Amino acid sequence: MSLDHNLPLGKIGYCQVCGGKNLESIIDLGHQPPCDSLLWPEQLDQSETSYPLRFKVCMDCSLGQIDYVVAPEELFFPDYPYRSGITSSLVEKLSKTASSTLSRFSVPENSLVLDIGSNDGTVLRAFQNSGMRVLGIEATNIAEIANRNGIETLQKFFSEDLAHHIRKNYGAASVIAATNVFAHVASLGDILRGVSLLLDEGGVFVTESHYLLDLLDTVQYDSIYHEHLRYYSVKSLIKLFEQYGFTVTDAERIDNYGGSIRVYAVKGRRHIVSNSVKELLTKEEKFGLGEINIYREFAKRVLKSRQDLLKLVVSARQMGQTVVGVGCPGRASTLLNYVGLSPGLLPYIAEQSTSLKLGLFLPGLHVPIVDEERMLSEQPDYAIMLSWHYADPIISKLRDKGLRSRIVIPLPEVIVQDP
Ligand SMILES: [Zn+2]
Repeated sequence: MSLDHNLPLGKIGYCQVCGGKNLESIIDLGHQPPCDSLLWPEQLDQSETSYPLRFKVCMDCSLGQIDYVVAPEELFFPDYPYRSGITSSLVEKLSKTASSTLSRFSVPENSLVLDIGSNDGTVLRAFQNSGMRVLGIEATNIAEIANRNGIETLQKFFSEDLAHHIRKNYGAASVIAATNVFAHVASLGDILRGVSLLLDEGGVFVTESHYLLDLLDTVQYDSIYHEHLRYYSVKSLIKLFEQYGFTVTDAERIDNYGGSIRVYAVKGRRHIVSNSVKELLTKEEKFGLGEINIYREFAKRVLKSRQDLLKLVVSARQMGQTVVGVGCPGRASTLLNYVGLSPGLLPYIAEQSTSLKLGLFLPGLHVPIVDEERMLSEQPDYAIMLSWHYADPIISKLRDKGLRSRIVIPLPEVIVQDP
């Protein structure tokens, strides 16, 4: 591979971290449209582009990855509909990035903290409340929301060039965060050189990414989509950071997005490494991340859940019953497109009334996204939890609002809950 870790667009035939060729194909989810390219009604008559979506693993560094890079401009367009501040449970989780980091590292007050892919500024607000100077980097129009809310945010993609600009105008940073974005970037080398340039010696780069071990363990194939180029293990992150002169000093599992890892990489070599890193490496080895069996088992479980879900929906429809979806995170697109639940089977997806996605349509299948009020008044026979990784709080809220439908949890295996 190119040693600079900047991926070309299109098909890639080597490991994104180590450059090796020891890649195994695990599952092919078919050609799929970018999952967040929700459509406006007038777009339904136009053509759509789909791209290969195949999950592979590097047997040398235990990095899960897809083998096709879609242009970032097509994935993270200005109207990208995801806003982190919207779920209160997520706000609470994202705030922990600040408290966990500041409890591990002594960061002087008024130090500069950056967040790459800062979204609406939720992560930075917590740092700001702890007395830090903050600066967000967010490429989409959500940057405007952050700026309006008092979190200074540059509406740009982070790059080495931008790092030069920031260093000159804002000074060096003590902490740089990249939560739920570090697995997304194709220009990984550019990011890492930029982070290294901006951080003080001994400064910390804290990343949060979906964890490969959790993905396999709880069959989260629906979190595989074009935005997510990589599915990290701790082993693969150590290998990556080594190449840029960082030491992974600490790591912890967190429950964000159905299972993530928060990894602290300190600028400079030979920093003290905490036991947590060794423990996670041992856990990964015991789990079998270095062997093919665990991945084959995962693929089998994916196929089974697809068949079970399709069977449930088809037989419900044959009996004249109704089935709808609840919640439309990015992963809903992978799941529904892979299982093939088009509007004939699944007439709509219900979202909360504050959602920016109301009135739009799921790419590929064109399932409409509607206000949950409709579901509450129609009381369908089944409601499939598409945000199943947050199912419990969502279900109890919907029950409080009077939903009497049977609830379907699609993964890790299909489960039906009676009201
Ligand atoms: Zn590799």
